[in-house]
Amino acid sequence: MKNAIVTGGSSGIGHAICLALADAGYRVVASGRDEARLEALAQGRPDILPLAADLAAGEEACEALVRAAMQRLDGLDLLVNNAGIYVRADAGSTRGEDWRRTMAVNLDAAFYLSRACLPHLRKTRGAIVNIASDWGLKAGRRAAAYCASKGGLVLLTRAMALDHAAEGIRINAVCPGDVDTPMLVKEAVKDGLSHNEALARYGADSPSGRVTRPEEVAALVCYLAAPEAAQITGTAIPIDGGNTA
Ligand code: NAP
Repeated sequence: MKNAIVTGGSSGIGHAICLALADAGYRVVASGRDEARLEALAQGRPDILPLAADLAAGEEACEALVRAAMQRLDGLDLLVNNAGIYVRADAGSTRGEDWRRTMAVNLDAAFYLSRACLPHLRKTRGAIVNIASDWGLKAGRRAAAYCASKGGLVLLTRAMALDHAAEGIRINAVCPGDVDTPMLVKEAVKDGLSHNEALARYGADSPSGRVTRPEEVAALVCYLAAPEAAQITGTAIPIDGGNTA
């Protein structure tokens, strides 16, 4: 049985990734802050192990998460850095605390967790998949901190892929456009849109005419983790219906 750690497993894309990996035969440590939602995810799924942690708490908290996960797993084949937050603001109106929190969750935690997982991934010639964003490849309006964090995550992906390819560790980023998750719904409310109105409005902005489903992102993660993707490393793959084309 293969073993994975997934951050942000309590909601949206991370939730779908945990289920898809478990269905593909992984034992999955699912992390997040919301213990009740993690427990609900793991209900009736002995292959999903909930582990609550606040990734904004810094280096030691991230290292403690990996130590606790490794007490539950008998090796590590995959780390998915999926947890993320989005603060809607241009640079002029981004508060310092929102900038720091965005960097802490979206970028710093991915670095600390990846670094702590490297010794384990060396043993299995495992993989890391970072959930970045199409806004890590091109900018979006009123998202200065978010774009900076996701752009940083894309280049962290590429830099680490170069450094660790010879050890057999593959590191890739997935760059979704709009995905139908609670994060998208939260933004829709700010735009005065219902869930269905948001799917229609944001979908119409995409060349494909619709937003992406969390399960589609999860399937791409599963592919990148699989032996069939052995020659894929250092990439940042858009899954956005053509937005970045
Ligand atoms: P979501 O439904 O809001 O889920 C975000 C996840 O991140 C939750 O599980 C949340 O856990 C976790 N998280 C946030 N802050 C955390 C913290 N301090 N410590 C630990 N966990 C924390 O969002 P989503 O749409 O699934 O997003 C998942 C990833 O995809 C993010 O990196 C996001 O930037 C990226 N993405 C999303 C979209 C989109 O349109 N939805 C597009 C491009 C990229 P708790 O709730 O338990 O705290």
